[in-house]
Amino acid sequence: MSISITARAEARPNPTRSIQNRLPQQRPVRSPVLPSVQGVFSYHLVRVSRNRKTGPIPVTTTSANSCPPNCSFKGNGCYAQSGPLAIHWNAVSRGQRGSTFDEFLQEIATLRRHALWRHNQAGDLTPEAPGVIDARKLTRLAMANRGRRGFTYTHYPPTLGNQAAVVDANRLGFTVNLSAETLTQADNYADLGIAPVVVVLPQGVTKSTRTPAGRQVIVCPASTGNSDCLNCGICQQRDRASIVGFPAHGSSARRVEAIFFQEMHP
Ligand code: SF4
Repeated sequence: MSISITARAEARPNPTRSIQNRLPQQRPVRSPVLPSVQGVFSYHLVRVSRNRKTGPIPVTTTSANSCPPNCSFKGNGCYAQSGPLAIHWNAVSRGQRGSTFDEFLQEIATLRRHALWRHNQAGDLTPEAPGVIDARKLTRLAMANRGRRGFTYTHYPPTLGNQAAVVDANRLGFTVNLSAETLTQADNYADLGIAPVVVVLPQGVTKSTRTPAGRQVIVCPASTGNSDCLNCGICQQRDRASIVGFPAHGSSARRVEAIFFQEMHP
């Protein structure tokens, strides 16, 4: 998952593009988010989001089986696993909404030029194996984004292979932020020098803070109600110096905080 913003499930079903028929039938379950069928991924695009935090930009959701096994928030505080977004994510994960990767790329390629769009309000990059980013698919996505201003976040571990995939995407103009779970991890990711970094913060934080190494962490202005992605766009800036912080929120915020504070109280 990317550490980011709560979204409302405003997406409309698209039965003509559904991959439901290729998935085993399952009883409808609303929450928590179901594990998707291994190896079958579903991608959903809303062209004009009604999420007040993103503003009216294109926003996507990827089935839950895209999330890497190492994400500490998986089933343990992930903001997307509760509330309206969880209902939408379930539908995408079951293949009731969304499309195949090839269809998804075609949709991205039709976004207007220079459009700011956010990939994965829930879900992560497509893997080729557990914990391993599918570099070819990421490159194809970055190519489809050309001329547009797509951005996303990833919880995939920065192994050498994953680093190369992320570097390539950023070089092609598709911004991939590395999502850290603690301030120390944010420093470690920033030390790699391969991509911009975001990090979770304790709930209620409204002012900038610093990492142990002294890097500035600015608070996402959408989390304080002062802006939205359309008017901010800092997560799309690949060369920014600041780390973006997202205060924990939602019904599982305390679990996110527990992970955040673990490094301070081992
Ligand atoms: S920092 Fe800006 S671009 Fe990033 S999530 Fe917040 S409002 Fe959107």
